[in-house]
Amino acid sequence: MRLVVSECLLGSPCRYDGSAKTCDEVCALVKRVLDTGGEVVTVCPESAGGLRAPRLPAERRGDKVYSLDGTDVTSSFVLGAQRSLSCAMAADEVPFAVLKSKSPSCGVGLVYDGTHTKTLVAGNGVFAQLLEERGIPMATENVVRACTPSVEHPVAVVLGSGLGHLAGLVKPVRRIPYSEIPGFPASARPVAGHSFEATVGTIDTVPVVVYPGRVHLYQGYSALEVTSLVRHARRLGCRTILFACATGAVPQAAPKGLGVIADHINLTGCNPLVGWSDAEPELSLIDTGFVDMNDVYTPYLRGIAHGVANDLGLSLSEGVLAGVLGPSSETQAEVQALKTLGVSYVGMSTVLETIMAHALGMQVLGLTLATNYAGEVGVSHESVLCAAANHAEEFESLVRGILTML
Ligand code: SF4
Repeated sequence: MRLVVSECLLGSPCRYDGSAKTCDEVCALVKRVLDTGGEVVTVCPESAGGLRAPRLPAERRGDKVYSLDGTDVTSSFVLGAQRSLSCAMAADEVPFAVLKSKSPSCGVGLVYDGTHTKTLVAGNGVFAQLLEERGIPMATENVVRACTPSVEHPVAVVLGSGLGHLAGLVKPVRRIPYSEIPGFPASARPVAGHSFEATVGTIDTVPVVVYPGRVHLYQGYSALEVTSLVRHARRLGCRTILFACATGAVPQAAPKGLGVIADHINLTGCNPLVGWSDAEPELSLIDTGFVDMNDVYTPYLRGIAHGVANDLGLSLSEGVLAGVLGPSSETQAEVQALKTLGVSYVGMSTVLETIMAHALGMQVLGLTLATNYAGEVGVSHESVLCAAANHAEEFESLVRGILTML
């Protein structure tokens, strides 16, 4: 695992006024990475560009960076970003980055707007922009904090076909039959490979709530019903949720085996946020159904997943999931259409649950086990369960590794 971190988050007094912005959760992450044999690259692009502290604060305005006195310091910022990029990329392994929020160098997604009035605008700092152009997953310290598990904020794990055995790893504190979960359909019975009892407890000391089965649209349940487990997890305090699902890999777009979901296309024709204002109490947290879906699968969690897989020597692909209604599998024409759409995996779960989790402000990781190729002849529910069983050990070690790294 290779982690790139802004130095000021680790206590280095390199900010413009000579201060640091130490983040305990990022320091703890760095320790975990080092303890597991990983590499941590610390960077301060502004120092690397020759800007010593103390100095005047600077903000990004368009493509330029200006100091408080109006001096154009863009060239120093660009030089420092390029030097830091060389350090970040000086190895074969693709890193992921945790960077100081809002900074004109390190800011991810939001930066001060150049007016020096504490006004934020969408965009990246100069260094973060270079990382984004190279496809490096990035997060701010706020995301690391939000993903850090605790007894109050356990990690929710929702398991799919043939993957429910992970529930056996939980040291249980409490069990909750799905029949006690508000909104979960009372008539539902588990399909083969699923079980309907949530377990609250720990996996390797990490607080978790594991849901070892789910219901699907193809069983006749509504979008609100199939997302009831997500709202339950949110009610229990979970801020991070890991979905695992069996899918078909689209030929030539993804291999069979383990994968990380980078994004999705909702082809189910349903959305769980339809009628959000009339549903359960959690939905009152959502101001409007018009939820921004950018980075719905948290880049930081994807970075952790790839780092853990690399450490374990596991092959982990990444791609776009198409969520379909099912239960029939795809025709050859549909497989061709999915390929044209840029789809890597196709499945009958996870997409609606992810929409719900994201709307509720949760950090989402989507893991998939592509048990077959989409359109392959002879695929049955039994063959999916059989393929899942063959990958059970590596799936288990991947999930355990991810949980202990959070
Ligand atoms: Fe921190 Fe980045 Fe600014 Fe350096 S350039 S002080 S690491 S935010």
